[in-house]
Amino acid sequence: MSDVRHNWTKEEILEIYNRPLIDLIYQSASVHRENHDPTEVQVSTLISIKTGGCPEDCGYCPQAARYSTGIEGNDLMSVNQVKAQALRARESGSSRICMGAAWRNVKEGKDFDQVVEMVETLNKLDVEVCCTLGMLTENQAKRLSNAGLYAYNHNLDSSEDYYKEVISTRAYDDRLKTIDNVRKTNVTVCSGGIIGMGESAEDRAGMLLSLSTMVPHPESTPINALVPVEGTPLEEQETTSVWDMIRMVATTRIVLPKTMVRLSAGRTEMSKEGQAMCFLAGAGSIFAGDKLLTTPNPDINEDMKLFEILGLKPRKPYKKGDKPKIIKEEVPLSERKDLKWTRPKHKIERNIKASKKHRAD
Ligand code: SF4
Repeated sequence: MSDVRHNWTKEEILEIYNRPLIDLIYQSASVHRENHDPTEVQVSTLISIKTGGCPEDCGYCPQAARYSTGIEGNDLMSVNQVKAQALRARESGSSRICMGAAWRNVKEGKDFDQVVEMVETLNKLDVEVCCTLGMLTENQAKRLSNAGLYAYNHNLDSSEDYYKEVISTRAYDDRLKTIDNVRKTNVTVCSGGIIGMGESAEDRAGMLLSLSTMVPHPESTPINALVPVEGTPLEEQETTSVWDMIRMVATTRIVLPKTMVRLSAGRTEMSKEGQAMCFLAGAGSIFAGDKLLTTPNPDINEDMKLFEILGLKPRKPYKKGDKPKIIKEEVPLSERKDLKWTRPKHKIERNIKASKKHRAD
């Protein structure tokens, strides 16, 4: 049985990443079979509950207000709108719904109260409810937990070193702090990253090092391939090779043996055969729906055809944990005044260039 280890070194992870691909897949597929049902893949749906207008400068993101990407922003959706979309997703086979808001951090007030209500509403639909709302305090994490949240997504994006090449408006430590805050509740942690942003294999291993030395490991790790969007600083980045995706999925599977590895953004660029290799290598989840927040995603019917060919079935919710109970109790909001998230503001030339282009348009 593969051990769950928290003492990986970057060198060890890099050595795994660089193994001959055929050996790497064989090993990761074995780890996958030891720890997961290889015939099941969870279908998840991402609902963008508040799109665009984000103050951050993440170089890959079309939702950053400072870049000219033609994204149509919207205010926070109503609880009923979200419920209707979640019901449709559940009918199409999704057992997990992730609600994403383009916020730097969660702010107390009407909007957050509405998100808390969305979590309660979706919890009652018997789907795993996940949120990705930016940086989160401990009390905010507790409120979401009490509302029945199953998972909180907060990606590390890349290695600590390469993160500084992509984002200047918040620090890696802020990411880790939010994950710590989630860990103080019963909510599970979903954290992964993006490949294809110009990072090296060492950076990919560095990101996996950060994740694999967490105690406990994140329950869920999405692996995204960059979808270069015109107007963002990374618009000219080359499409990520499918072999790199397979390699990254396989390495993640080996260093995080119990974690759900999620094949996330970038699937439209992958062939059916490439996706099949990712499932073999250890991916246990896909995101369904024609859009992933704002970027294209394969059609659910196409996904179901592929499942049929491969003999896969959609996974039911709560296979690895109980459905969270909704707890009606007031959480004190006393820490709000002390909150200070970092603004490192170091210079990233390509981000500055893309922002200026926006102003000139
Ligand atoms: S990734 Fe999230 S935080 Fe960064 S710009 Fe996009 S919406 Fe904002």
